[in-house]
Amino acid sequence: MTDLDRYHRQMLLPGIGEEGQRRLLAATAVVVGCGALGCASADLLARAGVGRLILIDRDVVEPTNLQRQSLFDERDASEGLPKAEAARRRLAAVNSGIVIRAHVADLHAANAEDLLDGAGVIVDGTDNFGTRYLLGDVSVKRGVAYCYGGVVGTRGLQATFVPGRTGCLRCVFEAPPPAGSTPTCDTAGVLAPVVQIVAACQAADALKVLLGRLDLLSGTMLDMDLWANQRRRIDVGGPRPGCPCCAERRFEFLAGERGGLATSLCGRHAVQVRPPEGARLDLPGLARRLAPHGAFTTTMFLVRGVLRGERGEDGPLGLTVFSDGRALVHGTDRPEVARGVYARYVGV
Ligand SMILES: [Zn+2]
Repeated sequence: MTDLDRYHRQMLLPGIGEEGQRRLLAATAVVVGCGALGCASADLLARAGVGRLILIDRDVVEPTNLQRQSLFDERDASEGLPKAEAARRRLAAVNSGIVIRAHVADLHAANAEDLLDGAGVIVDGTDNFGTRYLLGDVSVKRGVAYCYGGVVGTRGLQATFVPGRTGCLRCVFEAPPPAGSTPTCDTAGVLAPVVQIVAACQAADALKVLLGRLDLLSGTMLDMDLWANQRRRIDVGGPRPGCPCCAERRFEFLAGERGGLATSLCGRHAVQVRPPEGARLDLPGLARRLAPHGAFTTTMFLVRGVLRGERGEDGPLGLTVFSDGRALVHGTDRPEVARGVYARYVGV
């Protein structure tokens, strides 16, 4: 067996062959977000032999993820493993012939360009509009195709934006909807089969991009509802005159908020608190400081446990702190509550 033999059924496809496979093995895909969509698309890209796969996620695996996040198992959830690392371990066992990097990090304006550096394609596995608009900005600024996907409830949307060929995310949706105005997976749930369809379309487009076959992209946005049996395709069209991003090259989201922030996480009943830039945390030291306040466990990635003396909307508050100083406060959706907990117990 040569290294290429495992890709035999893929190399049989028109336009791939050995040359195409070598091209994929030399390519880099960045999957941003390792939730439901990111698990499904990263699995396909790793099996396809994309040579360098970069996985970025800010969260840890929870039991409620297992219904749809196909790279994780019960042990990942009980260990509270970071999703990016759990996905990396699983995919390394699937394909040891490619390089897989995991970044346990929150992609934001100050680090987006660094984290996406070298991407041959950006694959969207995010769960929030703020990060999507950042990805859109980096895509246009760097001239890298962006495979957008989104699923809420039983509905899925998917499109691939190619700078210079199609319009961009902001040509289609000029601004994110106001916070709280749209359903989220928190309020509407998620039908796992829709995730698989949307992610499969994203992965197929990512392979077309990495193979240099932009002619095979549809130039449309897929809008489907698997429960209602509805499916339509909307023309994405070319760059829209006056688009702030791709016409005027004003990258407003990349230029955005860079300081510490508290953000409520979709579907998690948890708030992420991001420290000011450059903070680094001594995890064992933090674990010692937290010990009098509850039962905390420490791994090489994080410290987590339940705070005895803090209550959220419906029970005691949980706290997970990563080595970059970022924290998740579990059991609340209120940023001000999470900021207070962070200031009292972590305080970087
Ligand atoms: Zn545009």
